[in-house]
Amino acid sequence: MPETVVLTCLACGQGNRVPAEKLNSGPKCAKCGAPMFAANVAELDLKVHDKARRTDQLPLLIDYWAEWCGPCKMMAPEFAKAAQAIKPRARFAKVNTEQYPEISSRLNIRGIPLLILYANGREVARLSGARPAADIEGFVRQHL
Ligand code: ZN
Repeated sequence: MPETVVLTCLACGQGNRVPAEKLNSGPKCAKCGAPMFAANVAELDLKVHDKARRTDQLPLLIDYWAEWCGPCKMMAPEFAKAAQAIKPRARFAKVNTEQYPEISSRLNIRGIPLLILYANGREVARLSGARPAADIEGFVRQHL
């Protein structure tokens, strides 16, 4: 692992350089003070989504969901549980596809819930359908 890791603040979008040895001790955004590994899974707008998936130096798993989607809501606590289990090796966030419908055509999303894992500025893998925390965690670990 490099000495510093570039991470986008999922609250304000600010790029941060976090010393690798501080990843475990609750690093915070230099601009807004939000934790870089929040207890709650961050909801991203498209600006922060695009920046984080392109520039983050830790793997980023995004849950594409919508309010009307029952399985999405069922999976939310499982996703949050997996996020806590895997930090600080990767970060988890979510995007509401109902609020940002253009994302579905841009990323060719045909059904939700859909998880997309990004690393080193590109898409690494997709996992579709509602999954328990252990499956989500296993999916990410497989690509670390
Ligand atoms: Zn911030």
